Amino acid sequence: MKKILVTGGCGYIGSHTVVDLLDQGFEVISIDNLSNSDEKVQDGIAAISGKRVRNYTVDLCDLAATREVFQANPDLAGIIHFAALKLVGESVFEPLKYYHNNLEGLTNLLRCAEEFKVSNFIFSSSCSVYGNTEVLPVTEDTPFGEAESPYARTKQIGEYILSDYAKVNDWFKCVRLRYFNPAGAHETALIGEAPTNPATNLVPVITETAIGKREKMSIFGVDYDTRDGSCIRDYIHVMDLADAHTRCLQYLLEDRNETNCEVFNVGIGEGVSVLEAVNAFEKVTGQKLNYELGPRRPGDVVAIYANKSRAEQLLGWHPKRNIEDIMKSAWAWEVARTKGVPA
Ligand code: UDP
Repeated sequence: MKKILVTGGCGYIGSHTVVDLLDQGFEVISIDNLSNSDEKVQDGIAAISGKRVRNYTVDLCDLAATREVFQANPDLAGIIHFAALKLVGESVFEPLKYYHNNLEGLTNLLRCAEEFKVSNFIFSSSCSVYGNTEVLPVTEDTPFGEAESPYARTKQIGEYILSDYAKVNDWFKCVRLRYFNPAGAHETALIGEAPTNPATNLVPVITETAIGKREKMSIFGVDYDTRDGSCIRDYIHVMDLADAHTRCLQYLLEDRNETNCEVFNVGIGEGVSVLEAVNAFEKVTGQKLNYELGPRRPGDVVAIYANKSRAEQLLGWHPKRNIEDIMKSAWAWEVARTKGVPA
């Protein structure tokens, strides 16, 4: 059984990927400093998979402590690196916090990967590396645009760090996964997005409004040059995203990679507008959402969605869930975590 280190294994995408890895027969350990997550997610993972994952509550910026985890686990076959700060708005006001945490964490992890010769590495990147691009859908060859935030710039720099490192280290193999808009929850409603910070992403804002944690929500701009005036995104179900990670890992472990530093877009390849997302929520849940048509949010990209051909062809990855599945599972999770019972 191959042992995988997942950093950020108690976080949103990390926890769902851990479930998928366990399901596919991998052994998993996690490093998570719990700065935006809760170790209780381990109970959900155990309830779903029947296996308990060990989490090391370690900050990746602490090189010595990170090294100790590698020392205690000399048999790692791969690393999936999720642990990072991800609040776009916060990053604008606290850029140093983001540059320090996201880049120091990555370089420390690479130092350990080098010392302990863990050659398979998957990095959480983001479609925000493309900036406000005119090219739609975006392919992996679409050049980086001007980053809209320090958060996005940490993802661009992270990608450069990996490609520079891979160029001079033949033994090392990495994949950068550019996520579009991850949303939804595990079908059991036992795990889901549980941020310790107030949610700012569309789907949790919708579910929190519907359940009454917020009085109302705002659609940020309905005067864009799009089919209904609201912004367009590519919402990808978190379990399809988890599946992409497991497939990447198998791709690297089986040496099917074409170069030692690859990149894949991970989106469903379809744009959904904010108003369409809201309608999908109301349709599948029967809930009436209290929303207003508000002003634009500064810094928002008008429209972005993926060309996913590369991941389809090379990883055999075919996302199975759409915006309605996302809304259904996100709502079931919201009800479960708020009321203690599944919807
Ligand atoms: N959005 C919105 N109201 C909210 C939160 C988000 O209208 O309360 C819109 C936002 O303007 C964007 C889309 O939903 O067009 C997705 O936003 P999110 O923050 O989830 O992701 P990102 O902007 O990073 O793609």
